[in-house]
Amino acid sequence: MAISSIIRESIEKSSWIRKMFEEGAKLKEEFGPENVYDFSLGNPDLEPPEEFFKAISNIAVNRGAGAHGYMPNSGFPAVRNKIAEGVARDHKISLDGNSLVMTCGAAGGMNVILKTILEPGEEVIVIKPYFAEYGFYISNHQGVMVTVNSGTDFSLNINNIEAAINSKTRAVIINSPNNPTGKIYSSDEIRSLAVLLEKKSVGGRPIFLLSDEPYREIVYDNRTVPPLLSAYKNSMVINSYSKSLSLPGERIGYIAVNPEIQEYPLIMAGLNLCNRILGFVNAPAVMQRVVADLSDVTVDVGLYKRRRDQLAEGLKKAGYHFSLPEGAFYIFCKSPVEDDVAFVRHLQKYNILAVPGSGFGGPGYFRLAYCVSEKVIIKALPEFEKALKSFKSE
Ligand code: PLP
Repeated sequence: MAISSIIRESIEKSSWIRKMFEEGAKLKEEFGPENVYDFSLGNPDLEPPEEFFKAISNIAVNRGAGAHGYMPNSGFPAVRNKIAEGVARDHKISLDGNSLVMTCGAAGGMNVILKTILEPGEEVIVIKPYFAEYGFYISNHQGVMVTVNSGTDFSLNINNIEAAINSKTRAVIINSPNNPTGKIYSSDEIRSLAVLLEKKSVGGRPIFLLSDEPYREIVYDNRTVPPLLSAYKNSMVINSYSKSLSLPGERIGYIAVNPEIQEYPLIMAGLNLCNRILGFVNAPAVMQRVVADLSDVTVDVGLYKRRRDQLAEGLKKAGYHFSLPEGAFYIFCKSPVEDDVAFVRHLQKYNILAVPGSGFGGPGYFRLAYCVSEKVIIKALPEFEKALKSFKSE
């Protein structure tokens, strides 16, 4: 076999997204892209804010020695210090740029952390339903993913997490606002989790809490995401600008580390090295400067809220069941039958592309990404209605 058996297996496992992409492309060719309602990808359709284009033009014309050269693997110190101000405010903690590592997006950040902390065979707990790439990131670094059910409203179930912890547990990953559910974990949930992890961090081996937060800025109805770093000392946050500034192609994000974390200097040295040896070396230089200039800028979250409301209202009227997302841009909708794959296939007959919940460890549901235009939502709603009616009468 020309490729590793592990990667071959991974290709099979990731086939849902690929399948949706391929089948979507076929439908678009046959019916025209305007007649296919593609809710399958979390690829933001909003353009980056105007401030982004201004910042990038200024940076492009301002030449300076070393502006495009190698740098400390953690990123430009001035950039890290600037971003640290926002992290300190959001996480109610005192920290500076020395506790940050600029990364190639949240995906890069997760891989850097997992490479730094995992011994082969150590376990990482992930809450179902979860962002499917976690499984790959964990196995990239010889870890084992252990999945745990959330509560019925997708909140953290502390008893389930406790039951999954054993002497091999190295970290717990949480993601809030959540992909695929749109749930934001409350301060109480975070506090209870912190108490549990503190209690279970024995024998000089802490259990790290890794909070994946690329949707922190995309929240609705005046909600906020509670501070994480100040809640638990052995914590790290991963964030990116892929969603908040609509820059997923630019691969820019960061890791922020609690300065009280066990063996802080060693952790920082490990992250720094892993950013380099995973082949990222450092996050893109131009983008680091751009995001430092845009520390309080985001896309217009009001537009996502309008789409959420439009889609949610229409789906409800059509007879679908789901919890209204509190953040991010996904609705995790109950499938009318346990076999979510069968229902997603049925939706395709109406030119609607969705992703089965099984792909996220959440069978019986399907995910709709509403980072699409309002026109698509308006045109799709009657099709959703027809699809549900015809499915029930089949
Ligand atoms: N984590 C979650 C929960 C995501 O949904 C995504 C992207 O969709 C990522 C991480 C990866 O983000 P990035 O593009 O910043 O690597």
